[in-house]
Amino acid sequence: MAKTAKKKTIRTIPQQRTPVKELEPKVRVKNFEEVNCGYTLAEAMNEAERCLMCPDPGCIAGCPVNINIPKFIEAITEKNLRGAYDVISASNLLAAVCGRVCPQETQCEGKCIVGDTLEPVAIGRLERFVGDTAIREKWANLPYVESTGYKIGIVGSGPAGMACAADMAKAGCDVTVFEAFHQAGGVLKYGIPDFRLPNPVVDAEIENLRKLGVKFECNTLVGRLFTIEQMRGELGYDAVFIGTGAGYPSMLGIPGDSLNGVLSANELLTRCNLMRAKDFPNFDTPIPLGKHVVVIGAGNTAMDALRVSKRLGAENVYCVYRRTRAECPARAEEVHHAEEEGIEFHWLTAPVEVLDDGKGNVRGMRCIKMELGEPDDSGRRRPVPVKGSEFEFVCDQIVFAIGTNANPIIGQTSHLKLNKRGYIATNNDLATSMAGVYAGGDIVTGAATVIEAMGAGRKAARSMKSYLKIRDTSEEVAGAPDAGTFFGIDLREQNFARIRAA
Ligand code: FAD
Repeated sequence: MAKTAKKKTIRTIPQQRTPVKELEPKVRVKNFEEVNCGYTLAEAMNEAERCLMCPDPGCIAGCPVNINIPKFIEAITEKNLRGAYDVISASNLLAAVCGRVCPQETQCEGKCIVGDTLEPVAIGRLERFVGDTAIREKWANLPYVESTGYKIGIVGSGPAGMACAADMAKAGCDVTVFEAFHQAGGVLKYGIPDFRLPNPVVDAEIENLRKLGVKFECNTLVGRLFTIEQMRGELGYDAVFIGTGAGYPSMLGIPGDSLNGVLSANELLTRCNLMRAKDFPNFDTPIPLGKHVVVIGAGNTAMDALRVSKRLGAENVYCVYRRTRAECPARAEEVHHAEEEGIEFHWLTAPVEVLDDGKGNVRGMRCIKMELGEPDDSGRRRPVPVKGSEFEFVCDQIVFAIGTNANPIIGQTSHLKLNKRGYIATNNDLATSMAGVYAGGDIVTGAATVIEAMGAGRKAARSMKSYLKIRDTSEEVAGAPDAGTFFGIDLREQNFARIRAA
């Protein structure tokens, strides 16, 4: 790394960020194909040249799982894609997923030193390129592990559960993941649509977990079929991790919000993505198909609901948000894509009432214009209604995407301590109030990001190992000098783990 680092300066690297090919808006709104086509090898190598290989890089600290970003990018410059994959997979088992959906602009790319002068290195696109190559080449980094004899139960198969499952399986435990839905993957599968994250990409990454020996029990609603207490007791799990997410949608509670034609974004997306309503007539999942659809909210979920509605055939799709574009929580790229696809944005607008057609169906929505007042608790300026500015929208479907809450069943059926918002209470090590039971991801923090959920799953795994007195080699080698990786296993760990390449 040092050799290249000396040669590169901000003036000598390619000045422009390497563009990525995208499907034309007019074409893509008619299908669910992935919008972003990803880098070719030549494009990835060109972009990799933009990394300065900083001796004290900000990007690693900006990544919630601390991927050694300069190191994997350097491997790309050397056309050593397997090496790049080994570096990423040492910290992150979902490279192809995270390369697509992480909010890099506020994480690694937000801390990229090139970004102080030019556009930051496209770290996410490079990670995706490596992840996709690994899937295509069927690479997987599978350590040989000695069985510890411990039995671990994971509740929820989203990124938090998967990350915890992977680390516990690598530590020699017998790991079973219980998932309420009929397929594993959490939001990656039921929420994020194929045009942003194709399901086969998620499946390929889940397959790597299966190769590690992780078992998946789908159609298993923990709390109804058996409780957390039973898992720790009669079912014999030595430790349990809860990663059940925050999939319980919020509604506004305005008049008319139970009319036919009103639904939550989670319901729309689950029917479309996981239940494959988008593949009608091959799948006959019922889904309401509005012609004039209003989506309330402007986060990532709202952007997905807007763009899905368009693809399902709506003529007009409107986004209604009570703050301005500057405050909207969705990634800038998602808003840009939605605009390109013809979504109409109504900033500084709040819904007041859903209007009835007299037969119990939505015929429209009454809204009011807002203006920004003083900052609220979140630090953002509070939207205040503008007197006398009410107006009506004509629409036949309304989708609420205004946030979610904790999935409640575990809380209702166990003695676990919850916080006042209904999320599972944990200490800093992600231990819950019940011995041997850990929790992490959205069920602890509230709705957050994929990579933060994965970081939590890994942190909980470290705590579980310490609880079970399993030697945590990743901790033991953390302070030692860097020795590099070999097929994803830190070389300093070789005293503890025999390795093989897949
Ligand atoms: P989840 O992914 O929610 O997984 C929890 C799993 O637990 C689910 O499969 C659920 O069915 C299961 N479960 C729940 N209760 C039980 C039970 N009692 N028994 C068994 N199983 C149970 N983040 C990003 O970083 N980038 C994005 O672009 C992005 N887009 C998003 C788009 C949408 C539509 C949504 C909803 C979220 C998005 N997020 C995004 C947020 C991100 O997906 C979540 O923060 C992340 O998935 C949380 O992971 P998790 O493992 O905690 O929970």
